[in-house]
Amino acid sequence: MTTNWNGGSASGEEPADLRLARLQQRILTCRQCQEQGYIATAQPIVSGRASDRIFVIGQAPGHRSVANNKPFSGPGGRILQTWLERAGFPPGYLHEHSYLSSLTRCDPGKNAQGNGDRRPSAQELQLCRPFLDAELAIVQPKVVLLVGAMAIEVFAGKARLEEVIGTSWERSGIFFLPLPHPSGVSRWLNDSAHQQLLQRALALLAGWREAYGL
Ligand code: SF4
Repeated sequence: MTTNWNGGSASGEEPADLRLARLQQRILTCRQCQEQGYIATAQPIVSGRASDRIFVIGQAPGHRSVANNKPFSGPGGRILQTWLERAGFPPGYLHEHSYLSSLTRCDPGKNAQGNGDRRPSAQELQLCRPFLDAELAIVQPKVVLLVGAMAIEVFAGKARLEEVIGTSWERSGIFFLPLPHPSGVSRWLNDSAHQQLLQRALALLAGWREAYGL
């Protein structure tokens, strides 16, 4: 019997939760970016269940999330949870019922200025991307939240946030929803017009929650 990239049997008979557990184990033991000199220490984190219907894709975990072994465990995660609540989801939904993924799974460290997280390089994105694709293939969520400019760019191409926040698209039965980065580092949300775009995005999310019982 051959083993496919998703960590499952080629026959496809294995339950999704077992395939996901194997994939997550494979992610957790990955050291490619460390071995190739992109980061000092690879310490990947994963979070989510095969039954999750909302799939969150951020840029990369920060040092706090890695220390807590929990994606979105900093201030950005708290704000993202409040956005979910504005769309009608209950408290705790982000960490208890959403699959939390990212473009890369290890903390890329600080940027050169030391005032923010370093954007993962194209090579790091390429190395980590098969994990993301495999997770999406197993979980098959109903909604994908693209959190922050980098995740949006990877899935929708380069665009200004004003052009994409408040819009959505559907691909193979999955709704993709761009969202701004929720951290206080971004000033984009200080503009009231941008807050209206965010509200439009959350209204779309609320509609899917009702329509699909998320
Ligand atoms: S960022 Fe991804 S590819 Fe790079 S070491 Fe971490 S898990 Fe592996």
